[in-house]
Amino acid sequence: MTSGYKKAFWVNSKAIAQNPEKHIKEIVEIGADEIFLLSIDNEGALYPAKLSVVAKEARQRSLIEGAIREAKRNGLKVHAWIVALNKPNEELITKKREWFVVSKEGKSCVDEPPYINSYKWLCPSNEEVRSYLLGTIQELMETYDVDGIHLDYIRLPDLFLPEGLRERYSLEKSKDVYMEKYDFCYCKKCREGFMKEFGFDPIEIKFGTRKWYEWHAWRAGKITEIVKAVNVTVKSYDSSIETSAAVFATPGYAYRIVFQQWATWPLDSFEPMIYHEYYDKNINWIGEAVMEGISSGKNIVAGIFLGFLRNREDILNAVGIALEKGSNGVCFFVYPMPHPELKEAIKEALSKF
Ligand SMILES: [Zn+2]
Repeated sequence: MTSGYKKAFWVNSKAIAQNPEKHIKEIVEIGADEIFLLSIDNEGALYPAKLSVVAKEARQRSLIEGAIREAKRNGLKVHAWIVALNKPNEELITKKREWFVVSKEGKSCVDEPPYINSYKWLCPSNEEVRSYLLGTIQELMETYDVDGIHLDYIRLPDLFLPEGLRERYSLEKSKDVYMEKYDFCYCKKCREGFMKEFGFDPIEIKFGTRKWYEWHAWRAGKITEIVKAVNVTVKSYDSSIETSAAVFATPGYAYRIVFQQWATWPLDSFEPMIYHEYYDKNINWIGEAVMEGISSGKNIVAGIFLGFLRNREDILNAVGIALEKGSNGVCFFVYPMPHPELKEAIKEALSKF
């Protein structure tokens, strides 16, 4: 019997593929009853897919099959966790360069990725990208018996970074600094698409002007369209399969920095990544973020970053405050756990609801 709340982990399938029995047993023992199993990462599918690029280590054998089998045998719900638009895969870069986002400076992320080398993103306005993602998800559902489809990296690159991350990239900490090299996407599809609706080229729009906000909203709208299309694909295949997404911590941050207007997305649940230290906040902020999410009327399951919880008290506080503010459970990032010595504390926290 489950309590009705989600008690879940995001699970790195590559780390448990050698011995799924042992790891799934441990997850069950800790008290979780659902897993978000990494099934398609930024390199590609973690199984020999036909419609999607495949990660190198998964060309010969599936890295998720064993985990799914063991999870099912132990009564866990399995959501396929899918890295949607961040795709630094060499084959795609070579064959489909035009699918990748272009900055306001006119440079493809393939040549000049923002922030880190793996920040190579597919453009959400491109219909081919959309069909590619939908085909990939369809194939996954036909291949594996999953209970949910979970979208991650379903956004554009960060227009700004949250406060706690700025110093790492030599950015000024105390304010948002706009830079054209971090502003995406100005590919042909985006420029023509916007021009068709608004009558002018978005490349001419200055940051912060009124037109800017229309352009910002237009881009968010393209991501929403993809999410809606995924939801239709999943539900028409099997209406009992749950849809969800790992979104930025609050609707406000998500919209402003990564163009996710997630409060309008038609998914069954949302696992906002309330990774407090990235936002330079303390554990109490997890509760505030949960409240903001819930005010959108959505079903919120707080995503909690275990690496930022350093003792038993931190874990009990983080989970306690999320639940107290109305979260429909918790999802921990990540399994295998960064502080395995805190396993008992996690178990204790999950046993309280
Ligand atoms: Zn584009």
